Amino acid sequence: MVLFIYKLSNAIMPQYIVRKVKIGKTLQLDELARAAGELYSRTIVSFWRTVRKKDVWLSGYSMEKWHISDKLHAHTSDAVTQSFYASLKSWRSRRKTDPNSKPPRRRRWFYKVIWKSSAIKLSGGKLRLSNGKGNQPLIFDWRWDKPKQIEMGWNRNSQCYELRACYPQPNVNPIKSSRTAAVDLGEIHPMVIADGINTDIYNGRLLRSKRQYQNKLKAQLSKLIDSKKRGSKRRKKLIKSKQKQLAKINNQIKDIEHKLTSKAVSILKERSIQTLVIGDVRDIRNNIDYGKKANQKLHQWNFGSIRQKLEYKCAKVGIQTELITEEYTSQMCLSCRRKNKPRNRNYRCSCGFKTHRDSVGANNIRAKYLGEVPVVGLMAEPSGIRWYPHIQCNSTFLRVEESPEFPELRSEAIHGE
Ligand SMILES: [Zn+2]
Repeated sequence: MVLFIYKLSNAIMPQYIVRKVKIGKTLQLDELARAAGELYSRTIVSFWRTVRKKDVWLSGYSMEKWHISDKLHAHTSDAVTQSFYASLKSWRSRRKTDPNSKPPRRRRWFYKVIWKSSAIKLSGGKLRLSNGKGNQPLIFDWRWDKPKQIEMGWNRNSQCYELRACYPQPNVNPIKSSRTAAVDLGEIHPMVIADGINTDIYNGRLLRSKRQYQNKLKAQLSKLIDSKKRGSKRRKKLIKSKQKQLAKINNQIKDIEHKLTSKAVSILKERSIQTLVIGDVRDIRNNIDYGKKANQKLHQWNFGSIRQKLEYKCAKVGIQTELITEEYTSQMCLSCRRKNKPRNRNYRCSCGFKTHRDSVGANNIRAKYLGEVPVVGLMAEPSGIRWYPHIQCNSTFLRVEESPEFPELRSEAIHGE
C-alpha cells in the first residue's frame, strides 16, 4: 500500500493524502461505474443542448436538481455533476492562455464514483458505502480510519477497480532545530544528502539498470510491433503486452524510489533536521545538449518524482523543504572555494582538500543556502546507502510500503439497508 498526496482530478478538494486500495472487478462495481457514466453523459448532453438552443449556461445547482441517478447515493449524483462543472471551470481559465483548448464534451460509458462523507460509515472494522435507498451498499473490511471522501476509479495497470480514500493532511508539529541538510539529486546517485557532518550517498545502480532495461524493452517491442500489419490481431496483442511489461518496470522503479526516499526522510528525522534544501535541477533538461545517449539518460533521470516524494514525505514529519538553483555546485572546492573538474571518483583540489566527488554537490548546495563556508574539519567520510528489497525505515510513521493487502470484497454478499 502506498500513501501519497495527489490532486484529485475534479479539484473539489485541496491536497489530501490518498490511500489506494485495489478492489477487483464485480458486476456491482461495473453497474455503479456505468450509472455514474450514464449520469455524466446526461449532464453533458443537457448542458450543451441548453447552450445551443437557449443560449443559457445552466448553473451547477440547477443541473444537480435536474439530473440524478436512482442507482447512486444522492451526494454521489451531485459529485458527478460537480466534476463536470469543475472541468468546465478549468477549461474556462485555460482558454485565456490557450485558445485551442477544448471544453468537456465527451460522453462516458463509465465514470468515477465518489462517496462523500455522508455516504461513508465505519463500524466494527467494516466500511460501508451507501448507494442510496433500495440499492445494495458496498461493504469492505477496513483496518484504517474513516476517510473524508472515497473515489472509485479504474486502475488500468491492474485492470481492476480501485478505491482512493482521501484523508486530510495531518498537522504535524514542525521539528524545532536549526539543523539544515541539503540533497543533490543526480543521475549516478539518485540522492546525496549532506547535513554538515554526515554525507549519505544513496546508491542508484539498481534504479539505473531498471531504466536501461526499460529503454531496451521499449525499443525491442516497438520494433516488433512495427513489423506487424496495422489492425492485425497479432499487433493488438503485442501492444497490450508492451503496455503490461512497461507498467511492471514502472512499478518497480516507483517502489525503489519510495523506499529510498522513505529511508532518507527517516534518517533526516532521526538527526532532527529541520530544513531540507533541494538542489533545483529543473533547467538541465531544457538547456543542455550532451549528445543522444547522455540526453536520454538525463531525460529519464527522474529527479522530478524523487523530489516530489521527498517533499511530501518531509512535510509529513514536519521537515521543511526549500528549492535552490544548483549552479557550479558540483565543482567548487569545499575548503578554498576554487573550481575544479573532478576526473575520477575522487575530488582533489590544489589546496589539499580531497573527498568523494559526489559528496561535493550536496555540501555546496547546503553552503550556498546557508551562505556560509562549510567547516571541512567537522565532516565525516561520506557513507553509502544501498537499496535492498526489505530496506527498513526507522520511523513507524514512515512505514508506508506495506505489503499490498487488499480488503476482501464483500459486495456480492447481500446486506440489507
Ligand atoms: Zn581547495
